[in-house]
Amino acid sequence: MKLRIAPLTAGLLSTGLLASGLFATFSGHAQVPTGAGTIAARPVVLKAAHLFDGRSGRMVEPGMVLVQGERIVAAGTSVPAPDGARVIDLGDATLLPGFIDAHTHIADDHDDDWAAGIYNGMMRFPAEQAFHAQRNAKVTLDAGFTTIRVLGAGDFIDVALRNAINSGYATGPRMIVAGHAIGSTGGHCDSAPYPVTRVVPSTPMEGVCNGAEQCREATRLQMKYGADVIKICASGGVLSESDPVDVPQLTPDELKAIISEAHNWGRKVAAHAHGDTAARLAIEAGVDSIEHGSFLKPETLQLMKQKGVYLVPTRTTLLWTESKLAGYPPKIAGKAHAAYTSHEQMLRNAIRIGTPIALGTDAAVFPHGLNGREFGDYVDVGMAPAAALMTSSIGAAKLLGVDKEVGTLEAGKYADVVAVPGNVLTDIRATERPVFVMKNGQVVRGAE
Ligand SMILES: [Zn+2]
Repeated sequence: MKLRIAPLTAGLLSTGLLASGLFATFSGHAQVPTGAGTIAARPVVLKAAHLFDGRSGRMVEPGMVLVQGERIVAAGTSVPAPDGARVIDLGDATLLPGFIDAHTHIADDHDDDWAAGIYNGMMRFPAEQAFHAQRNAKVTLDAGFTTIRVLGAGDFIDVALRNAINSGYATGPRMIVAGHAIGSTGGHCDSAPYPVTRVVPSTPMEGVCNGAEQCREATRLQMKYGADVIKICASGGVLSESDPVDVPQLTPDELKAIISEAHNWGRKVAAHAHGDTAARLAIEAGVDSIEHGSFLKPETLQLMKQKGVYLVPTRTTLLWTESKLAGYPPKIAGKAHAAYTSHEQMLRNAIRIGTPIALGTDAAVFPHGLNGREFGDYVDVGMAPAAALMTSSIGAAKLLGVDKEVGTLEAGKYADVVAVPGNVLTDIRATERPVFVMKNGQVVRGAE
């Protein structure tokens, strides 16, 4: 009986959620959340010594933001202070647009013990894992990340959590989610090669497909059940058991089927790709971003610039795995080290060439909530601090297709605001220590 009722319920819910396409994430926010307190009708004036608006690339002093309801009314060195406004003075701090992370795995837990992490993950029911995902989302929001893209999750936990956050039943960032990542049998997006008598092999529903038509089906399935974006595994990966790290894993026909189907629905496609050949095939097929990019050649980075394809470096993850090699199985440690060895020069080349870069971390490989390290990790390889901040603000907002709603401190945008101590341009690592976080006009950290 339950099975008969479930599809009807899902159909009714999806009508409203999917009607607005990619902006389903935001349509939910237009309503007053029912479970997370009420949005104050009283205007709020935020004050701090500095303000970085995320678009101009410049710092202004002092910084002020006027918030009414869930939106920014004005931002700059001075704003009107309406009668009865609540003034929050953050002192010697920098006001910034809420951070955006274009690559997380919010439904997955980090575990310092690789084997224990796999064992525990396999033992949990999806409903139990969803509670873990909620905890991860809260930690990420407290770290100043008010918008995230989730590039792969099991059991549609990301879809469920996004909906719960939009409805006010859970606390976390705005979420743009992929459902299951899509890739070929044995590839990085497939499960480990467990004996089939113990673990049932994945199907297009879980994102594993072979041949253009099956990959089209896998894409349609993710979108049917609520994906805002499609994630593919174009090349091999580090944390997977079967495959070499840099080989292509989808054919041009498979790539075209997935990407055309996603684009038909107004969804973007993010390609996990360490290897250069795999990335090039994905770029030629029309992908919107290359994730990781460890072995990309300068010519490929140049091609990305020409085509407006973003690089999402996940630098923090490369540094994390390199520092923990002894904790991984030897095969995985070898792949992690090879990727790390190539990644720094690749990123320096991308900065020099001017390849568009959107900040993304691959959080879950390292503990959720440390996402802010990515800013300083870009500066460490030669990016200017202002440019590093803009990979998250206007950069990631554009890649995610949400730049009309979030990403900068400007009138009309959702009031997603972070404050970090001191002058962020002279101390980029201050992004790891936010003192104040506002999402959607509601204070979620500090000053309450
Ligand atoms: Zn990832």
